[in-house]
Formats: sequence, C-alpha cells, structure tokens
Amino acid sequence: MTTLKDRIRDLIRFDGPMPVSTYMMTCLHDPRHGYYATRPGLGRDFSTSPEISQVFGELLGLWAAHEWAAMGSPNPFWLVELGPGRGVMMADALRAASAAPGFLDAARIALVEASAPLIEEQSRRLANHPVAHFASLDAIPEGPAIILANEFLDCMAVRQYVRDGNSWRERVVGLGENDALQIGLGGLAEPPANVLPVGESLEVASALAPFIESLARRFRQSPGRALFIDYGPDDRSPGDTLRAYSNGLQVDPFADPGVADLTADVDFPRIRRIAEAEGMAAFGPAQQGHFLIRLGAQVRARALCESNPSRADEISAAVLRLLSTDDMGSRFKAICLAPLRTPIPPGF
Ligand code: SAH
Repeated sequence: MTTLKDRIRDLIRFDGPMPVSTYMMTCLHDPRHGYYATRPGLGRDFSTSPEISQVFGELLGLWAAHEWAAMGSPNPFWLVELGPGRGVMMADALRAASAAPGFLDAARIALVEASAPLIEEQSRRLANHPVAHFASLDAIPEGPAIILANEFLDCMAVRQYVRDGNSWRERVVGLGENDALQIGLGGLAEPPANVLPVGESLEVASALAPFIESLARRFRQSPGRALFIDYGPDDRSPGDTLRAYSNGLQVDPFADPGVADLTADVDFPRIRRIAEAEGMAAFGPAQQGHFLIRLGAQVRARALCESNPSRADEISAAVLRLLSTDDMGSRFKAICLAPLRTPIPPGF
C-alpha cells in the first residue's frame, strides 16, 4: 500500500526538495493520508488545555459573554471557533455563557474545521446546539463576531530559514541515504519584512499575514474580538521549532509523515505587528496562567472541588497544570485582536 512517505519521496524525486511548509501542509492536510484527514489524535498524541480541565472552556465562555456585552449585545452575532478539535472547549464555553441572559439566543455558532473525523465529533458533542461548519474564516458571512482559537495557529505551515552571512537560505526536505527524508539547505531566500529574527534560524508561517488581514477586513465592517491561545516566544520570531508528537512523545518530524502531529511555535510579535499595521488593536500576549487567573480560574476551581469532593485532588492538579509557570501557564500565551479603540478585554 502506498504511504504518504512514498508519495512525498516520489514528489521530491520528480520535482526536487520541497520547502518545509509544503511538507508540513501535506503531512497535516493531505486528503488521503494527512494526519488531520485520517487520524487526528487529540488526547492520544497530544493533550490540550480544554481537554485537561473544563475550567479552561468555561472561562473562555464567560470571557466571550463579557465581550459580547461590551460590543452592545448584538443579536445575532457569530460565535466562531477555529480548529475546535473534539468540541470540548465550545461545549464548556456554552454551558458557562448560558448564564448571560440572551447570549445563547443571539449566538450563531460557526466552527472552522479542516478534519472530516473531527467535524463529525464536534457535531456529536454539540448536538444540543445549532452549529454550522465552515471551511475557513473567510467563508463565514459578515456580521459581529467573537472568534476563539486554542492551538490553531501552531498548525499553520512554516517556512524555515538559516542565516548565511548577510542573507538567508531556505531549509528544504530532500532525500538522504536509503531515500530517508532529510532536511537540507536550499537556495538564497528572502524572509518577509515583518519578522524579528534573533540568532541563526528563523521560521515563518506564510498564511499568517493573509489570515490577520482578513480578520482586519472583517473588523472594519462589523465589531468583533479574536482571541488566540497558543505557544511561542513573546519577544522575537521563532527559530527552528518544528516538532512532531505521537502517542504523547516527541518524535522525528521526518520519520513518519502523516502519522504524527506536526506543530511549530507561533510568532506573537509578528501577529501584533501585522494587526497594528492593519489598523487593529492588539492586547497581549499575556501568559496563559496570568490570563486565566485574572478571569477567575482559582475561584472556579475551588467551587468545582467543593461540589465534587471525591475528585478535588484531580481537579486542582489539572487546573494547576494550566496555570503553573513551570507548565502550560507560561508556555502558552493569549493574544486578542479587535477593532481600534476597543476597551482592554478581561485577562489582559
Ligand atoms: N482547539 C482544540 C484542537 C486543537 S488541534 C483543542 O484545543 O483541543 C488543532 C485543530 O485545528 C484541529 O481541530 C485541526 O483539525 C484544526 N485545524 C488545523 N489546521 C486547520 C485549518 N487550516 N483549517 C481548519 N482547521 C484546522
């Protein structure tokens, strides 16, 4: 049976080494063999904040309800989630936000998801709510919108560059000994202007600029907020951070294309720069721990422990993972983009 590795090898033989971004996109999204198309392994290959504790989605739901009120409680409005995984965060968010009178009635829930198996799972988990799936943010009609995304931007395919004197060369995936996939150096290449490289290597998500620009167009027409939570440095562009996860372990990204999840750090300073150049306001990045604590994570955790005393240790340990500076609390960051003159949203 042909594997994705065979097909990538054939492509390289035919067409020469490929940019890391082409490799990453193929591994994640190839319709026949790609990771998300065939075997998205949330909870198996990697675990995410909403899967670790319900407190995460609940606080994001309350955040959304607060911002909806700050926008003047538009009815209807789009409640969007990008890359909703198994739908856990949206389910928790809706349960918490239902406490805000009128919020659920006004919300048109829009999910942007590329993976067919995950679309099915999201529809199942959110069966009590009318949800619509869209192929991209651009496909969602105009209108006020609150957009949430956890671990979505880190799936964007990245190009990698290595410094060569005063210029840069692009890293490419080619064939090594025994036809193993191997990373090598391609020709001279010019990274985009809006990056802040530090050191010898640089990583750039090509789709990031058009994505932020499309957000800006949306916010020029209608009010909105976009909240992204992800990992990455807050003061420079990432270097070489492409990594692969399989069964909870970090593995070689070139060993088994399509079988492991691939991810790369998010360039928060670049998001800010593009957003501001497009006339948006940017809040953050704030460390996830600080962000969630300001939203009341500890109060919510205590209440949950009191109502489930037999699970109190487990609940506290899970929330601590999300908040702790030794763990996801500092590794993950939140950034919010919004129209100019938006008051500072909670958490920042
Ligand atoms: N937000 C979820 C899942 C994170 S995994 C959680 O925190 O648990 C990344 C998610 O983004 C998956 O649902 C994946 O299928 C989706 N995804 C990745 N790239 C995408 C793209 N280009 N368009 C739409 N969805 C995408």
